Formats: sequence, C-alpha cells, structure tokens
Amino acid sequence: MSIQQAEELLRTHFGYPRFRLGQRKIVESLLNGNHTLGIMPTGGGKSICYQIPAMMLPGVTIVISPLISLMKDQVDGLNQLGIPATYINSSLTPAEVAARISAIQRGEIKLLYIAPERLEAGNFQTLLDQLPVYLVTIDEAHCISQWGHDFRPSYRSMAKFIMALPRRPVIAALTATATLEVRQEIAELLDIPDQHVYTSSLLRHNLSFAIRHENQKERFIHAYLQEHRDQTGIIYCSTRKEVDQLTDSLTRQGVGCAAYHAGLSDHERNIAQEKFAFDQIQTIVATNAFGMGIDKSNVRFVIHHNIPANLESYYQEAGRAGRDGDESDCILLYAPQDIRTQRYLIEQSELIADRKKHELHKLVEMQKYAFTDRCLQQIIMFYFTKEEAPPCGKCANCKASNEVEQQDITVDAQKVFSCIKRMKENFGITTIAKVLKGSKSKRILEWKLNQLSTYGLLADRTEKEIQQLCQWFVSMGYLSIVHSASSMPIIKLTPLALEVLTGSEKVYQRITATTSPASISTVAHDALFNRLKEVRSQISLDTQLPPYMIFQDSTLREMVKWLPEDGEALLQLNGVTADKLKLYGQSVIEAILQYAHEHQLTCSTATDIVPSKPTKILSHVQSYQLYQAGKTIEQIATERGVSKVTIEDHLFRCGIEGYPINWDNFIPPEWEALIMEQIEKIGAQKLRPLKDALPPEVEYMSIKAAIAKHTLLAKEDKVKL
Ligand code: ADP
Ligand code: ZN
Repeated sequence: MSIQQAEELLRTHFGYPRFRLGQRKIVESLLNGNHTLGIMPTGGGKSICYQIPAMMLPGVTIVISPLISLMKDQVDGLNQLGIPATYINSSLTPAEVAARISAIQRGEIKLLYIAPERLEAGNFQTLLDQLPVYLVTIDEAHCISQWGHDFRPSYRSMAKFIMALPRRPVIAALTATATLEVRQEIAELLDIPDQHVYTSSLLRHNLSFAIRHENQKERFIHAYLQEHRDQTGIIYCSTRKEVDQLTDSLTRQGVGCAAYHAGLSDHERNIAQEKFAFDQIQTIVATNAFGMGIDKSNVRFVIHHNIPANLESYYQEAGRAGRDGDESDCILLYAPQDIRTQRYLIEQSELIADRKKHELHKLVEMQKYAFTDRCLQQIIMFYFTKEEAPPCGKCANCKASNEVEQQDITVDAQKVFSCIKRMKENFGITTIAKVLKGSKSKRILEWKLNQLSTYGLLADRTEKEIQQLCQWFVSMGYLSIVHSASSMPIIKLTPLALEVLTGSEKVYQRITATTSPASISTVAHDALFNRLKEVRSQISLDTQLPPYMIFQDSTLREMVKWLPEDGEALLQLNGVTADKLKLYGQSVIEAILQYAHEHQLTCSTATDIVPSKPTKILSHVQSYQLYQAGKTIEQIATERGVSKVTIEDHLFRCGIEGYPINWDNFIPPEWEALIMEQIEKIGAQKLRPLKDALPPEVEYMSIKAAIAKHTLLAKEDKVKL
C-alpha cells in the first residue's frame, strides 16, 4: 500500500491529479497504521484523507460524524463516485440495519457512517464484534474537547469507548477549528503522539473578511444581495426569531431564501437544505444549527447578522464560504447590543464558574476582532496558532491600508440622481445607463428619453461603467431597487440621494488598489458559465443529485477557460473523472461546442490543456513563504526555475507589502545609513546613479533592499500621520 497507489485512486475516483501537501502526510501516516490527528482548514480536503485509505485498507472504515441529517448526503456523494459506502442511524428499521450489516460482512462496503449517539446505545460493541473494522475516523474531532466551542458529551464517551477496546483500530481524528489547547486535549485523549499530529495552515487565501458596524443591518444585507444576485450564500443569525424575521422581510423584498433552525420540523429543515443544495434558492438564513459538514462548495458569501460567541464558531461558520477555492466574502455585521446578548447568555448559562470565565474571555477576543484595524486573517491565525502570519492583502483592513485616497464623486452622483429623477424613477439600471451615456438605441428614441436635459451627461464613460457606478450607489444606500411582478426591477432614489441632490451631503468613493472594472471577456465568459450551469441543472433534475455533486463551479470555470473539444480533453480538467465523463460528458461538450461555434472560438485538445496550479497564491508570496520556511534564495531559485534576482525582488516586494522581513540579512548594517542618505538625495527611481554614488562593495541587491525598506518606512510614516 503505497502513497502512489493512493494517488492513483485520487485520480481515478476523484479526478484530482495530486494530493495537497497536508493530505499526503495524513494519508501516509494512516496507511502506515498510525493514530493520526489532522488539522486542516475547511475546504482543505479532509474527507479524502480517510476516504482513500478506507478504499485501500482491509475491512470497513467507520466514520463518526456528528449530524445524522448529513450522512445520507455524504454517502450518496461517495456512491456517486463509485465508492461503496452506507450509514446506520436511528432513521432505519431493524431490518434495514441488519441488511446493511450483512452487506458489510460480505465485504461489499468500504465506509460506514454513524453518529456518536449510536455508540452510547450499547449495541455498538456487538456491531464492532461482528465487523472487520480497521480504521475509525472521528470527523469534527474538536467536539471531543471540553474546551472546544462545540463540546458534545457523546463524542467524549465514544472516544473513551474506542480507547478501551481490546483490539484498538487505527484512529483518524480530523478537525478544522482547534486552538492549541484543544489540539492537545484531543491528542491526549486519543493517545496520538506529537509526530502524528499534522497541521496544515488554516489560512484561506480565497476568503475576504470584512466587518461592518451597521445600524441598519437589513438595508446592508438587502443591498449586498442585490449586488450579488446570481450568487449563493448563508446568513447566520443568533436566534430563531431573527432568522424568521429576516427571512420574512427578504422574501417580501423578492429574495429567494429559506429559513433554517432547530425550531422547524425535520421535514421543513430538509426542504430548506435541499432547495439550497440544488440551487433553487440563493440564500439560506440560519442559526448555527445549519452547516456542520455542509458540503456545498460554491457558497460565495457568509454574512453574520450577529456576532458569534467566539472566533472558533466564527471561523468555522464563515469558512463554509469558498470551499471550491473561488473568491468569497465573509462579512460580520457588528452592533453593540449583540455583544451584550452573548454576554448575558454566557452569564445565565449553567456552566461552572471556570468555564464561564473561559467563555467570557473568548467573547472578548471575538469583540477585539470586530474592532481591530489589523489584517483580519492575521488576527484569526494568531488566535489559533499563536504565530504571526503575513497580512492577507484582501480583507477590508488590508484594503483600507492600501487605499490611495478617497475621491469626491458628488458631481457624478448628482448627474446620476437627477437623471433618475427626470426619468420619474420608473426605469431599471440598463436604461438609466443608456440615457446617461447618450445612447441612440431605438427604445431610447422611441420613449423620447433623448430629450431629457440629463441625456448624455456621462458620455465619456461606457454603459458598463455607468451600470457599475449605479450598482455601487445601490450598495451604499443612495439608490434602492424595487421589484414588481409585472415588470423589470426599477431604481428609486432614497432620502440619502435627495440630500446629495440638494447639496447638503457629499459622496466619496474609496479608490482601492484592487478596483478594476470587469473586462469584456469576463462578461462573455459569464454567458458560457451560465449556460453550463443550466446544463448542470438539467442533469441535476434528471439524476436527483445536487448540482455540486455533478460538477463543481470551479470545474465549470475550467471548462469555460479551456473549451475542451472532446471527452479526452474534458478529462484533463480538475474534477472530471472517467465516470463523470461517461455520464455527463456529452451534454457538456455539446454546450461548449455550440457556444464556441456561435462565438467563433477555437477549442482545446487534450494536449493543449495544462492542468492548473493547485494554489492561487501570488508568485512573490510563494517565494516569501519558502524563504520563511528556511530555504535559501539559491534553493528557491532552483526550485522555482527562476533567477536569484527574481527571488530577491519577490522578497523585497513582500517587504514593501508589509510581510515581516529581516532587512539586516540584505542591507549590511554598516552601509545602511549611507545608502539611505543617497536615496534621499538622488531618489529611488534609478539604480545606476545610486550604485555609482556608493562605494563599489555595496551590491545592487543591498541597494534594492534599502529602496524597499525606504518605501516601507515612508508608507508607515504616512499611515501614522
Ligand atoms: P473539508 O471537509 O476539509 O472542508 P472537503 O473534503 O469537502 O473539505 O474538500 C473541499 C474541496 O476540495 C472539495 O471540493 C474537494 O473535492 C476538493 N479537493 C479535495 N482534495 C483535493 C485535491 N487533492 N485536489 C483538488 N481538489 C481537492
Ligand atoms: Zn488582511
């Protein structure tokens, strides 16, 4: 049983070319028969860590998973990939249980899912005696820990039970959210030695965190949903009442959403979950009862309507966004009342004094997160690992510090608002943009909109840009979108916009380094992407499988990128297996070929397609991470196949961006003052004049480093001012 064989299974059954680093270590450890604890962020691919060993090891693997309701999904997903799995829980009749047990005894099943409650039932011992169990996986292992945020007594007694077995199976414990003390507790309880505890970085490069101190949370949520209309997301509230209220009000405003909380019947909850899984509704509004183990990979945003009680819960819930690796938002709405409520709940709880103190301390950490101006990912990472991570560059705080300036766009805003007013607040964004642009389209002329005094006021912009500007006004609460059953949504002015029109309110727009209008090509690509989504929906209807089990969004996006011309080409893409090709390949290829034909595009053959890089970390940050991991510049240069100078440039660029760097390694301290003096004098635009002005032993590398440090210091000074 080698890791190569394991990787072969990964290719044939899951369609992925290679293990991620963290997965490889865990799989190897389990194949070698070690009890193993794996800590990996949500979306890191924990399931594969035990599913593949389960396929290779003799007998059956038992998977302990906390939520009965999700087992069916997980098992369906595996069967769909051609992996024989089943579950046993209280929803089954004794006859069904017996049938499943005999199937396992006949060696027909590789994975058996059960809930920990099952173990307390006492007959688990009998079950184990009957079955050839080689590996036991404990999913969401933090539930074992008393100090964790989701302690479950049944989990703990189950762990004790397994430890007491005369012939102990190999144990795989997996979790995404564990502080150091929780990790230690799990390892101790399950007797897992340090060298078999594997921790992947909990960083999630595709999540953008933000905090909004909002008085009008609903207005914010509504505007956000308007702006992200074709995206799927979760809104978490802390109470059932809030879930119901928000669901009602969003429904009234025409948002397709459903409520999910423990006060609903199983049936109602299942319907909500299915609708969400099948993309029939875009948004689910839920308490924290929703989501553990939720497998939906294309969740594009998680909004917290109320602050959770601790960062573990927050990171776990927010982390349900972007499991497919695509860019996603995690937004926390903060109101002081929510902290008071959480504190009250802890104080009123039946916890012992020590525990209460512990929980209150966690709440304070959570509150600090809501008020920090440091990188939000950094704060979270430090909380879990007690180690400094580099700033993420994309959270709201990182972006704010990148901001060049705020631009006064009051005049533009007045042009837009007065145009909307003259159009009697009776049109949608597309038409408004046409009027402002001065379009000569038939309808505009027919409706005599070209006779308005505001016609052509923004003729220097493209219609797309004007539309984006209007969307921004919506998101900032100047405009609102009103839906009606009979016609297209129309745009109205809010009282805030009226104040801008009278001149009593100014409008500022932050210019961030990352602002870039969507290019034409992405718009074109969106059309094919949407078409492939329709194809997937059809397959989903035919097969009764949720869309993400057919193809994930990231796989559809690869199809859009490469336009594979046939099955062989399609098979090269991440997430396409031979089975999936057989089942769904034809409909997908047909859609792609037709689109390519309509748009005169050339498709790719199998050899054209280069598998995409596993991560999306920027190149210079990759070099930096290798350097921080202890590699020399030479080693990194060889490994990455570029010159030493390039790697140095990467490191200095990271330095300017605020990643911690020991400058003394690059700038000889005895020369530093002199180099800085020359930079002040000559400027940092050109290297040559600086080199000439300095003693010959000062290398180019040191000069470049000094320029970077100088830039960084200047930036920091500006921030302090
Ligand atoms: P977790 O349980 O850790 O949150 P999952 O097991 O649900 O994560 O996996 C997250 C996503 O990553 C899934 O879409 C999965 O198919 C994908 N994935 C897992 N392993 C790999 C791999 N080696 N290469 C590419 N994608 C992978
Ligand atoms: Zn950040």
